[in-house]
Amino acid sequence: MLTHPVDDRLRRWIARHRRVFALTGAGCSTASGISDYRDEQGEWKRRPPVMIQAFRTQEGVYRRYWARAYAGWPRFTSALPNDAHRAFAAWESAGTLVQLVTQNVDRLHQRAGSRAVLDLHGRLDVVVCLGCGERTSRADLQRAIAAANPSWRAEAAAAPDGDADVEESIIESFTAPHCARCGHLLKPDVVFFGENVPGERYAYACAALAGADAMLVAGSSLMVYSGFRFVRVAREAGLPIAIINRGRTRADDLADLKIEGEVGSTLIDAVATLA
Ligand SMILES: [Zn+2]
Repeated sequence: MLTHPVDDRLRRWIARHRRVFALTGAGCSTASGISDYRDEQGEWKRRPPVMIQAFRTQEGVYRRYWARAYAGWPRFTSALPNDAHRAFAAWESAGTLVQLVTQNVDRLHQRAGSRAVLDLHGRLDVVVCLGCGERTSRADLQRAIAAANPSWRAEAAAAPDGDADVEESIIESFTAPHCARCGHLLKPDVVFFGENVPGERYAYACAALAGADAMLVAGSSLMVYSGFRFVRVAREAGLPIAIINRGRTRADDLADLKIEGEVGSTLIDAVATLA
C-alpha cells in the first residue's frame, strides 16, 4: 500500500476552486473491497469484461455472466463506503464540489451521503429487460435466481461489475434468469463494453461540466473513452485539471496537478480543512 507523503498541493488546489466537477472511477472503491479492472499500467488484471454483442447473442456468454454475477453479488453488496466516498460527501457539503460523475456502478458515493451524483455507467442494483424494458430490483432477481438454482453453489471473489470467477463446469449447470413478464434476456442497468453512455446522461454531465471552474479525476486511469472525453472537454474549455490516481492515466499530460496516491487517504486530508 502506498502512503502519500505530506503534500499541500491538492489542499491548495481544492481551496482555489468554487465549482468543481469530479469524475471518479474504480480506484475509489478498491478500499471497499471492490477490485479494480486494471493494474497500474492500465492493462487488464483479469479477463476483460463481457462485450454487449456476445452477451446478447451467445447463450454461453449470457449464462456465464449471470452465474458469475450471482456468485459475486453477496460480496459486492456487502461493500461499505470508504474514506474516498466520505471525502467527496464532505466536500459536497462544504459547497465547492458541484457535480460528481462516477464510472462506478456500486452506489457507494450515494451511500456515503453524496447527492449530486451521476452514475455515468449506470447502477448494478437495477436490472432491465432487453425485450419489454421492464426495470426490476437486482435483489429481487437474486432471490429468483436462487429459487431456480436450489443446489447451485459458487464462491468467488467479487469483480468491479459484480461477477466472480466460477469454474466452467459449474457454469454449465447454472440456469440463467429471464424476464418474468416476457421471457426475454435480462441485463443489469449498466453500460457494457461495446455500448454507449445514453445521450441524455452524457448531455447532463456536459452541462454540469460547462458550469464548473475546475475538474478533478480520482481513481481512474481514464482508459475508457466515456470518462476520458470529459477531460478533453475540460481542457478545451481551459479548466484546471487535477488527477489523483495510483499509476499512470491517459490524461497525465493534460493535468495541471497529478497526485500519485490512494484516493481515500489523499482526499480525506485535503478536504478536512474545508468545512
Ligand atoms: Zn421483459
